[in-house]
Amino acid sequence: MWDFETDPEYQKVLDWADEFVREEIEPLDLAFPHQQFVPLEGKRRQAIDPLKEEVRRRGLWATHLGADLGGQGYGQLKLALLNEILGRSQWAPIIFGCQAPDTGNAEIIAHYGTEEQKQRYLRPLLDGELFSCYSMTEPHAGADPTMFTTRAVRDGDDWVINGWKFFSSNASTASFLIVMVVTNPDVSAYQGMSMFLVPTDTPGVRIERNIGLYGEHSDQGSHALIHYDNVRVPAEALLGGEGQAFVIAQTRLGGGRIHHAMRTIGLSRKALDMMCERALSRETQGSRLSDKQFVQGYIADSYAQLLQFRLMVLYTAWEIDKYNDYKRVRKDIAAVKVVMPTVLHDIAWRAMQVHGALGVTNEVPFLGMVTGAAVMGLADGPTEVHKATVAKQVLRDYRPAEGTWPSEWIPAKREAALTKYADFLEHEVGNL
Ligand SMILES: Cc1cc2nc3c(=O)[nH]c(=O)nc-3n(C[C@H](O)[C@H](O)[C@H](O)COP(=O)(O)OP(=O)(O)OC[C@H]3O[C@@H](n4cnc5c(N)ncnc54)[C@H](O)[C@@H]3O)c2cc1C
Repeated sequence: MWDFETDPEYQKVLDWADEFVREEIEPLDLAFPHQQFVPLEGKRRQAIDPLKEEVRRRGLWATHLGADLGGQGYGQLKLALLNEILGRSQWAPIIFGCQAPDTGNAEIIAHYGTEEQKQRYLRPLLDGELFSCYSMTEPHAGADPTMFTTRAVRDGDDWVINGWKFFSSNASTASFLIVMVVTNPDVSAYQGMSMFLVPTDTPGVRIERNIGLYGEHSDQGSHALIHYDNVRVPAEALLGGEGQAFVIAQTRLGGGRIHHAMRTIGLSRKALDMMCERALSRETQGSRLSDKQFVQGYIADSYAQLLQFRLMVLYTAWEIDKYNDYKRVRKDIAAVKVVMPTVLHDIAWRAMQVHGALGVTNEVPFLGMVTGAAVMGLADGPTEVHKATVAKQVLRDYRPAEGTWPSEWIPAKREAALTKYADFLEHEVGNL
């Protein structure tokens, strides 16, 4: 069966979520900007808790996780339909319990954690009561994890971690860090690296700087440069087995990448909505912007790009649900990652242009979206690396041609065709 319709019951739920995000949550982006990952207290808790409660009451809390983990087990396709609504607002994923990087971190603790680790880290994470950080990239290496040098050395029942990590998002407000380190330098990185769960207040965890993105104030940065300086953790802090870091990282990134893409649909749509409203509202040189062919071109290109991207994301989410195996869907997840920055960039850029001078101000969100598009081309791996993954996976289904000429070489195919239909061709010639 092949069906593009949303089940009517779930559509009602989505309609509610859409209104809830626009009316109740989007205002939080302006009332409490950049505070999504700051633990709740005081008046902010009074404002936020009832909203989370309402989401729970509607059965939409942490929908990406199974019921045993406190979610609804709706799967990726339903999550995609919800996430495209949440993508409009910075706060919305927090209110719905499905924000990155905590979703990916929760997923790997659920998969690989011991019972004790689940009780200590996963439960409060899923309850939305604490935040987490994924500490993998290093100052000298990011896209190639085999170059990481942060090291953990066994000392009796403990491990002692030393080294630097870079761009560890939310480390300053996270309760714990998931750190990827070398545990055995004598084997290949694929077998010699491991993950540890490290409480952020462990002695020796030193946040040197919180780096901000362009346009953020210097005190708003949330991407930490961390020095792990003789950080001592017990053997029970190991996540999964020794040497399993690469396997765990792949599990984590599979889901995380597609979740970003789902939210990007919502953000791109917000830019398109704004572009269309502006085109209908503004007049110049005797007609509305919407009557100018250039602007019509912007709108048509943006609509088509968004539609293509949305179908691609939904299809990939459907595949993940069907096969329940990120590895099998790796090619399409990587392809989604390849197109995502361009879609958001192009639509936001056109919307910005249609708004004229207002478009480049801090009174509209377009330049933030353009920066966001650039971030998407780096976070979770650079676009070039995902392109290489797509190409390698695509090429797996092909074989070299036998002999000098391509298998679709027309002279050889024509000869074969003439031989195959020789009887009929002779008959045709005879009738001429
Ligand atoms: C907003 C944001 C949040 C992030 N959050 C986290 C986080 O929470 N935890 C974490 O560990 N990391 C995080 N990162 C880091 C991110 O994962 C890395 O930036 C990414 O993996 C690239 O590494 P790099 O920056 O060191 O670039 P490099 O590895 O130095 O690559 C630089 C450039 O070289 C080119 N390049 C690299 N490899 C190839 C290749 N194989 N083929 C062709 N060209 C190539 C690409 O143009 C690439 O952009 C975050 C990054 C951003 C921007």
